[in-house]
Amino acid sequence: MFRINQPGFIINSPPILNKPEISAQTKVFRQKPEIVDEVLKWENNGKKSSKKQPKWNISRFPLSCYIEDEPSQGFNKAVNISFKSWSDITGGLLDFKKAYSIDNADIVVSWTDEKFPGREYEAGSNDLKVVNNKIEKAFITIIIFPAIDAGLSSDARVERVRRTALHEIGHAMGLDHSNNPKDIMFHRGIVNKNLSSSDIQRLMEHYQKNSLDIIT
Ligand SMILES: [Zn+2]
Repeated sequence: MFRINQPGFIINSPPILNKPEISAQTKVFRQKPEIVDEVLKWENNGKKSSKKQPKWNISRFPLSCYIEDEPSQGFNKAVNISFKSWSDITGGLLDFKKAYSIDNADIVVSWTDEKFPGREYEAGSNDLKVVNNKIEKAFITIIIFPAIDAGLSSDARVERVRRTALHEIGHAMGLDHSNNPKDIMFHRGIVNKNLSSSDIQRLMEHYQKNSLDIIT
């Protein structure tokens, strides 16, 4: 369930349900759940997707980002730092700005306390609304207290959120998992602290192709 932080702020349904109606030509591109535990195996774990990865039209940048308030943990700041990391490595080409409502946001970051039996090691997830292989809206959900946070200090939990957000923002840009254990986009990306040169290269290649799409 989603945590409600603001006194007097009434919400009837989780923000993730506020998605616009999906037309026949729209699909929601669901990324594989994140796992960071060596024991759990997901059926597609480590396999490279052959699907064509969607992306934002470059004219949509700076993308507006709505981050649901989670003030008690310093998590919001960690998510903002993660957005800035992605922006900085592209020299600001892929830039982000703050949105003040979910409806007006390109990317929505929500928090959840929900845990799923058998998926206790999931740290975050990602839903992309995609039309004609272009991303129209991205929903990032970060789990507030996943099993991997057990025994961690509050600072370490903030750091885990930062890494989770780095990984999920990569998906929100249309990047699939990588097979390189040093990448943030490795399917167990939370073991890594920072974006790798390979992460950066994959993102730049993804969006250089996008520039050509606009010309044609
Ligand atoms: Zn992932």
